[in-house]
Amino acid sequence: MGEAKRRETFSERIRREQPFCIFCGGHTPSETVEHYPPRSIFDGKHRPQGMEFGACRECNEASREADLVIATFSRMMPDAKTAAGRAEVKRLINSALRIPGFAREVYPEWNQLGVLKRYQDVASRLPSWNFVRLDGPIVARAFTIFASKLALALHATTTGRILPAEGAIAVQWYSNLAAYSGELPKDFIVLCGPSRTLRQGNFQVGDQFRVASVVPDESGYMSGHFASFRDSFGVLMFATERAEELKKGWSVSPGFLKRPLTVVPVQQPRS
Ligand SMILES: [Zn+2]
Repeated sequence: MGEAKRRETFSERIRREQPFCIFCGGHTPSETVEHYPPRSIFDGKHRPQGMEFGACRECNEASREADLVIATFSRMMPDAKTAAGRAEVKRLINSALRIPGFAREVYPEWNQLGVLKRYQDVASRLPSWNFVRLDGPIVARAFTIFASKLALALHATTTGRILPAEGAIAVQWYSNLAAYSGELPKDFIVLCGPSRTLRQGNFQVGDQFRVASVVPDESGYMSGHFASFRDSFGVLMFATERAEELKKGWSVSPGFLKRPLTVVPVQQPRS
């Protein structure tokens, strides 16, 4: 009997095709495969293949808490339709509530709801709406990590290039309340054109994740993206090799998962 040639595993193939971590500038060898957006965002952790990236262990693991917070928030709207879906949301919320300080941060006292007055009208028309505060430090940190990591993943996908350490990323996110209030960056979304989702044969997750992208220059030094997660929130992302194009203090750089983080301020409802 001849020795059967062992088939290359999926993880081995990704690491062969992407030998360097895309999240820290492209010089650290890939040790793991990172799915981004992470599987926890999707119903039953089930998502089509298509956005898997070579990642060093540190960049892979450094977003664990952020991924949990975002997976939880991505279920805010609409409500899960199946018993399994509702059980999954409950599990996510319970896990997120184990993050120290999280509960105090996101569940507002009634007397703090004054800041939301501006949205009262639109909020009263939303189905089964529960207010959660999204402007605290744990949530801001989670969104910065998640959106910046997703920006690097989308930049690699759309340009075929790894953003170098000297590059910069800028992110902004939009709650569903902002969307219902007409505050999305409409001109930019139009510029991006039609959105897409992950798709594998007949399996697609367009009800859970959509993204539209623009690569304005053929060289691919820069890319812009707008992603939405269910009806819960949207994220605007820019990645550029020319850091000077982005406002200082509003941007992070590849490798940010290995350094103290500059948290992007969360958009505040103006009263
Ligand atoms: Zn890395």
